[in-house]
Amino acid sequence: MTNNERILLEKLEKENIESLSKRGRGTELEKYCSWIGISKHGTAREKAIRLLNWYDSNTYKERLKKYEHLKLKINIKTGTHGKTVRGSISQYLWLKKIRPAILTKYNYKCSICGFEPEESERKQLHVHEIEEYDFDQDICELKGLELICSSCHSFYHLYRSYSVTTKAQMDELISHFTRVNEIEREEYQEYVRLLQCSWRNESIKSIDEQINKGYYDCDKIVTFKISYAIPYKEEVVKQLKKKGLYIEN
Ligand SMILES: [Zn+2]
Ligand SMILES: [Zn+2]
Repeated sequence: MTNNERILLEKLEKENIESLSKRGRGTELEKYCSWIGISKHGTAREKAIRLLNWYDSNTYKERLKKYEHLKLKINIKTGTHGKTVRGSISQYLWLKKIRPAILTKYNYKCSICGFEPEESERKQLHVHEIEEYDFDQDICELKGLELICSSCHSFYHLYRSYSVTTKAQMDELISHFTRVNEIEREEYQEYVRLLQCSWRNESIKSIDEQINKGYYDCDKIVTFKISYAIPYKEEVVKQLKKKGLYIEN
């Protein structure tokens, strides 16, 4: 075994072997192998090494480039335990001031697919918070607010969507995705698999770190930065400061 393979195997053992064996060891590995189109022959260990080499090879990054131009993209990154600016300010400020301002700014239309619901159906338009996280310092940076429809929004929080929709609903959403992007269903599936590879690859590197640093502590205090001229920014900052949750840029 080469040194590289040994390191890869250690990573796999730490992260996954246990859960893989619980789910019937080989099958899960084989599923991954066929997804990305590599050989699924041999022992679980051989498959794992092949798989991990592939993850490390950057092949998926090359293939992901094909999807860079998509209008509607998928976001699978995890956030700061659901701690957001929206959840940390008064609902009055969010619903009665900021949301209407964003609705007007975007002309009551989804900024991705252009969907424009009837006035009575405007709840189908969501204000999405564009965020970036600094996990080392537990800072969530609000980088903008975007008006998007509930269908487009589902793809910005894909793992959540999987857990709250039925199969039929998810199917509808995928149709929306392929329609907006003018791609085939097979391409959608490939795109998701490639993202899963990149997500997996990143998480293999960071899970140990995260556990060591206590990132999984949900009681952790997250502070906010706002690097964008959102409506009523002063009021938002004032409310966050009052709670000691604001960091100057
Ligand atoms: Zn939309
Ligand atoms: Zn969102």
